[in-house]
Amino acid sequence: MSSFLDDVYQHCRQDDECRLWLGTTDSHGLPLYNYSSKSRIHLRRFIYDMYVQSANKRRVIMKCNNRTCLNPDHMNGLMLSQFLSLISRDGSKSTISARINMQKAKQQCAKLNMDIARQIRQDERLAKEVAQEYGVSISTIRHIRRNIMYVDHQNPWSQLL
Ligand SMILES: [Zn+2]
Repeated sequence: MSSFLDDVYQHCRQDDECRLWLGTTDSHGLPLYNYSSKSRIHLRRFIYDMYVQSANKRRVIMKCNNRTCLNPDHMNGLMLSQFLSLISRDGSKSTISARINMQKAKQQCAKLNMDIARQIRQDERLAKEVAQEYGVSISTIRHIRRNIMYVDHQNPWSQLL
């Protein structure tokens, strides 16, 4: 059985896990497919939509950093707000893929431990202010305070707070 992806791969060069498109590209070097003489589609977005999930409202970037790669496993669809916040933080698109994997883990884990979680529970300021101080999201602070994250088993009252 031949799928659309197989057809596309016929026009790609294999490099490790990457499938690098050898056909037409747009002015940004992104793979284009001549669907008919009048219509062309952007293959990355199309394949993401077909094989991963709806690309609607998402920017699809390549985790492997290869602009012409069309392996759906290497695609990462970001909601526009996520995409913009990644760019604005370091102004460069080239390091985005590395940051995506590390960022959440770093932000949410490295800065917190049980001692800090206890401090956060005792802190009487607004979640917003505490979140800023510790460099984590407001929802993380709320989860800690509601005992969803960093559950304190040493404190018998923690389940009641
Ligand atoms: Zn790739």
